[in-house]
Amino acid sequence: SESTVPTVVGARLTVPLLDGRKVGYANLDHAASAPCLDAVRDAVDELLPWYASVHRGAGFASQVCTRVYGQARDTLRRFVGARATDAVVFTRNTTDSLNLLARALPKGTSVVLFDTEHHAALLPWRGPRVQRIETPANADATIAALDTALRACPVGPRLVVLTAASNVTGEVWPIAELAKVARRHGARVVLDAAQLAPHRPVDIRALDVDYVVLSGHKLYAPYGAGALIGRSDWLQAAEPYLVGGGATRQVVDWGDHLGVSWTAVPERHEAGSPNVVGVHALAVACETLSQCWDDIAAHERTLLRRLRQGLAGIPGLRVLELFGPAQDRVGVVSFSVDGLDAGLTAAVLSAEHGIGVRDGAFCAHLATRRLLDRSGADQQRAVRASLGLGSTAEHVDRLVAALRSLAADGPAFTYTQVDGRWVP
Ligand code: PMP
Repeated sequence: SESTVPTVVGARLTVPLLDGRKVGYANLDHAASAPCLDAVRDAVDELLPWYASVHRGAGFASQVCTRVYGQARDTLRRFVGARATDAVVFTRNTTDSLNLLARALPKGTSVVLFDTEHHAALLPWRGPRVQRIETPANADATIAALDTALRACPVGPRLVVLTAASNVTGEVWPIAELAKVARRHGARVVLDAAQLAPHRPVDIRALDVDYVVLSGHKLYAPYGAGALIGRSDWLQAAEPYLVGGGATRQVVDWGDHLGVSWTAVPERHEAGSPNVVGVHALAVACETLSQCWDDIAAHERTLLRRLRQGLAGIPGLRVLELFGPAQDRVGVVSFSVDGLDAGLTAAVLSAEHGIGVRDGAFCAHLATRRLLDRSGADQQRAVRASLGLGSTAEHVDRLVAALRSLAADGPAFTYTQVDGRWVP
């Protein structure tokens, strides 16, 4: 039920509408960034007076922060069920984590991925040994497609890049089954859990994957902290992701050059003063979520059913799907309305109804374009509504009613496009 899920900051914000009314803000954009948990806000508040540099200071505040930072690593390790030998490297976000891993791949690693990935997972891999699989139209076929792609890989290290849940459609991929195929071919798997981790437990060992990446701002913590968790050997053998303090064990002046020895993982890839407050916020968010997964799942399941049923009754509204309506999914729905520009739809939802959604191609251009085409939409861009802990049945009903009236009668006010954005 709604009352037992963790509460979020900003749940009672009100926003002005064009007709002069004020309404409660319906944030239906959790997939972009989730609001901060009240528990996280309180934890940050408690830590801020102790703000001090991690590792380097001997003072009491530095000791507190160093301890908090270390505990956050343990929390993240537990949160994803990591193996004892796995490294937990703190990064800025999922994008940062995937770029770090891409830099740490052994020479000649073959990388296999599906082409509907978020750009953060699609783009960091370079070179001739990157194989992009056209995502098939049903989940079972992804398993055969991955098997075929891995058969074609040359000898050498292999990495499969997998999204846990799509940021466009919310669909959950058959991760364990795909990981099994990867294992059969001696490939490692990195799981982009940016969209799944806020909704469900992600367990490295149960799924039998090698790396998990995630972002704090999608997990109900503020911006600036994320993690790469997984096998330490490649990370240990790689040059530091950034060079500077923290990544160096010793620097010696040899006259014509500097002799530098690097620290071991995780510090090796965390050069610079670490984001202790952000990392603490991320860890508290993980801890809070992991205490109530059942309630979170029940809350989201009820709202998602309500949303999908509501949208299904709107003439001309097409829901985008990779694998179809029967696929397991989290609370993310993208859609297109015939004859209505996605940017205009989003602008009207905001200005006339106090609803925040996202429009565009969601940093997954290949996926969004393909799905719009497949759905028979007459638009190039889509609208995305995404549910989370701040969402209520009233938000969902308001969205459905607003879309129904918009699809039938158009906007109540006149909008013009200024620099690509619709303004009333
Ligand atoms: N992967 C997926 C599936 C995502 O949804 C996102 C964020 N939209 C990212 C990666 C990138 O996350 P971040 O912007 O936090 O780096």
